[in-house]
Amino acid sequence: MTVKAIALFSGGLDSILAALLVQKQNIDVTGLAFTTPFFGASKARAASDQISLPLIVEDITAEHLQMLKAPRYGYGKNMNPCIDCHTLMLTIAGRKMKETGADFLLTGEVLGQRPMSQTKQSLYVVAKNSGYADYILRPLSARLLDPTMPEREGKIDRAQLMAISGRGRKEQMRLAETFGVTHYPPPAGGCLLTDPIFSQRLRDLMDHQEDRNIRDYELLKYGRHFRYRDTCKIIVGRNHSDNEYLRKLSTEDDLVCHMADFPGPLVLAPCGSESLITAAASLCVRYSDAPSDAEADVVCRHHNQSDILKVKAASKDDPEFRII
Ligand code: SF4
Repeated sequence: MTVKAIALFSGGLDSILAALLVQKQNIDVTGLAFTTPFFGASKARAASDQISLPLIVEDITAEHLQMLKAPRYGYGKNMNPCIDCHTLMLTIAGRKMKETGADFLLTGEVLGQRPMSQTKQSLYVVAKNSGYADYILRPLSARLLDPTMPEREGKIDRAQLMAISGRGRKEQMRLAETFGVTHYPPPAGGCLLTDPIFSQRLRDLMDHQEDRNIRDYELLKYGRHFRYRDTCKIIVGRNHSDNEYLRKLSTEDDLVCHMADFPGPLVLAPCGSESLITAAASLCVRYSDAPSDAEADVVCRHHNQSDILKVKAASKDDPEFRII
């Protein structure tokens, strides 16, 4: 009977090699990639096409956001809860394994490659907490780790797996050559949750807003963000692309401003309160081509009603606008 495996597949070189090492032993491998507001699956799609690996892509936003509220092992340097995130991915992969009748799971993790999340201890904790520890194979470092079920039960030959550890990539590049893999992405730094500016905005959102929806997370990706009087948020597009994304994400409950007579940003205030109109309009003037010392007309829309306000640019030193 054909042995089947589910590969956690990011599309990075390690995940490509891990899948190929297992496929080489005539095992039927299917890739599994995830999407959330913080990472997508485009790299996984491109890599799976390249090596002809069947790929399942699952949106795990709901479970990921739930985990992100209070990760058991905390956050990394920024808002990245890598240990809990890996655990969640393995738990979901384990469910997929059961659902599809696959025999085991595999990942491209390499022992010692990341200082926090890929120590022997972290690999052990993540596997144990996922609930599928004995099903998880790490083909690139397998010979340095205790054998798991697929090795013990002879579903795969451990002797043909690797004993790679550490942060270097030489061994992986050599292995890629033997598989004829010539195109692969450079090592990735992590998802948006590892970005310091994005993390600062996320922390601010979590501190100020109890009920958050997916759009609130999407908005964190675009424009300059200000907290006004420590309550409402105002977002100012930095360029045409930001303005377009903000426009697409806006709803009629938002306050949305743009310049009437000068090139300038789209300004969006998600809490849309009337008291914000002058503040949002003055930020719109500040980042527009209007003269900084005179009043300019700003079109402000709220609940499908548009008004034109005459305002001066907000001062750069105004302490009521805190940049986040
Ligand atoms: S970098 Fe992002 S996607 Fe990767 S494990 Fe950490 S939190 Fe999860």
